[in-house]
Formats: sequence, structure tokens, C-alpha cells
Amino acid sequence: MIPFLDLKKINAQYQTELKEACARVIDSGWYVLGNEVAEFEKEFATYCETKHCLGVANGLDALVLILRAYIELGVMKKGDEVIVPSNTYIASILAISENGLTPVLVEPDINTFNLDPKLIEQAISAKTKAILTVHLYGQVTDMDGINSIAQKRNLKVIEDCAQAHGALYTNTEGQSRRVGCLGDAAGFSFYPGKNLGALGDGGAITTNDTELANTVAALRNYGSHEKYKNQYKGMNSRLDEIQAAMLRVKLHYLDNEITARQAVAKAYLQGINNPLIELPVVEDVNAHVWHLFVIKTSQREKLASYLMANCVQSLVHYPIPPHQQSAYKEWENESFPISEHIHEQVLSIPISSIISKDEVESIIQLINNY
Ligand SMILES: *Cc1c(COP(=O)(O)O)cnc(C)c1O
Repeated sequence: MIPFLDLKKINAQYQTELKEACARVIDSGWYVLGNEVAEFEKEFATYCETKHCLGVANGLDALVLILRAYIELGVMKKGDEVIVPSNTYIASILAISENGLTPVLVEPDINTFNLDPKLIEQAISAKTKAILTVHLYGQVTDMDGINSIAQKRNLKVIEDCAQAHGALYTNTEGQSRRVGCLGDAAGFSFYPGKNLGALGDGGAITTNDTELANTVAALRNYGSHEKYKNQYKGMNSRLDEIQAAMLRVKLHYLDNEITARQAVAKAYLQGINNPLIELPVVEDVNAHVWHLFVIKTSQREKLASYLMANCVQSLVHYPIPPHQQSAYKEWENESFPISEHIHEQVLSIPISSIISKDEVESIIQLINNY
């Protein structure tokens, strides 16, 4: 059986270091907002080339807190609109509605699965305050396109980097930078299955905006800069010391993880040639870190059962588009044809840093024989 993702095996590679880091936290006697979180924040800010990084409880909270901070700072207010792709994971959209802001869904580019800058302008109204772009499946959005619209219309740009840690974007001037510093603020998830995964929940915000960073620092800690003095109606959303210690170990290996995933993707892209299968479109090899390898086919259910019958596990990311979820009845009668088409056809096949060459080769053969 080739499992979709074998987390135990991924973490086993680093087990000596992880256990040492774990012991260090236990022995420190300090478990919330201590040295490990402070050091991880420095290291991750350096990695993303941002001035600030703030650890929080999870990826959803990272996005919630960015928007909450903008509300506290008077940049936006309840009822304002935030543009978000119509085919993202639901958390990107929940972060907007959680703040009493209105998500405005914009269709993705059918090939890259990411926001299509050409379709954004027509969705902007007088109430629009931000674009929340998602680097879906690990591929960076067309940030030059998004930033130029944002600049023209005075909008904030927020990156949802939950699937794209370390992805490199090269702008039209030829400068390459990692996701997390390509907009005004970014939210990361360190859920165990993400490319940089903790051993439990975790998340972070990166930004160059010092005012925003200071506000988030208070908001994640009951709205308090100073103990027992509450400036905002904040939340409790902190990265645990133990998870920060795990992430410090795994951050060292993130670039290896990415290189290994890119090699698997390259093998799939070169090897799979079944005309019933559409392969993912890659515009720049460095701009995709392959959190998921997503193929499209009109015979998804049949292909998934065939793979399973041959001991290969595949998954669908995602089976129901956000506008058809019961949680968002307000969109019940709306249609987003590109998004619906994507949700009907996508299938994710195994990709990770520990899948073997032979396993990849056998998956390629299986798919070509389908
Ligand atoms: C995983 C994910 C999130 C949420 O992160 P959690 O840590 O699970 O809260 C948000 N956006 C996207 C695109 C994700 O994949």
C-alpha cells in the first residue's frame, strides 16, 4: 500500500533531534510564549525575509488575526469586503466571515488554480479593502498582477501561505523572494500534514508592517501588551513552546523537503502520459513547492477506485466548493463554473519527501495503464 502521506515516516527522519528539542522544552519549565517561540519567530522571519513573525495557534487564526488587527487599526471595518478565490480551502474564507467582513469570491485561473488578476478588478467595489490570495497546492499566485491592482485601488494584500512554505516567486524585475513577504501580511499553517508541519496545531503571521505586528502580538494574547492591561478584545491564540521547538528542527530541513517534492513532481510530469489525465500547469519550477500534486480527469471516481484497487491511496482537494457548503447558504444560488469544474475533476496523488523512486515509478505506470 502506498499511503497518501506517511507522517510517521516523515517525522521519523528527524526523531533524534525532535526528541532532544522536546526534552529541552520539558526541562525548561516554560511552556507558553518563551524562548522557543521567540527563536522560531526570528528564524522563520529570516527564512521569509520579513521584519516580523508571530507564532499563533493555527493557520486559520493567523488569517483571522491579520484581519482583526486591520480592523483594530482602522484600515477596515465590519461589513467591508475582502476578495478571495472561489476554490480555496474553506479556512481562507472563514477567516474573513469570522471578522464580520464579507468574502467576495473570484474565480481562479483554470490552469494554475490560483486567483486570476484579470477577474479581480470587476469584483472590486467601494467597500473592498483587501485581496486575500491563496498559493493553492503550493504554487505561488501571480503576485505582480495582484499587487499592481492592489496598489491602484489602495487594497491590502494578504497571502494565505498554508500550502506554500518556501515557494520562491520571481517578479518581473527578476528578483526572487519567498512567499510570506510578497504582500502586506501573510498567514502560515503548521498543521502536521503541511510542508512545514508541527506535531500538533500551529501557525504564524509574517509581515514587514511593524504596527500590524505589534497589534497582532497583543491580539493573540487576550488583547494585552502588558499583563492584566487589555487594550483590545483579543483572543488566546499562541504557538506552544513545544510546537515551536519541533518547528525549529523541521525548518532546517524545509528546503530539502521542497527539493524532494519537486523531484517527485518532475518525475510525474515527465512520466504520466495518459490522455485521460490533465497534468498540473507549472509556470516556474521554483514557484511550486508541491504541497499537493493535483491532476484533473473527468473519470475521477473511477481512477481513484482503480488506484485504490492497486494499493495507491489518492484524495480529493476539495470535493465541495465553498459556495456550495451548508455553512454559506448566502451563496446557495450562485454559480462559479470554473471552481465547480475544478472541484469535480481534481484528484491528488501521493507526493512527499519520503516516497521512493520505485513507488513514484509504479504510480506512473499504473496511471499510464489506466
Ligand atoms: C490548512 C489550511 C489553512 C488552515 O490552517 P490550520 O492550521 O489547519 O488552521 C488555511 N488555508 C489553507 C489554504 C490551508 O490549506
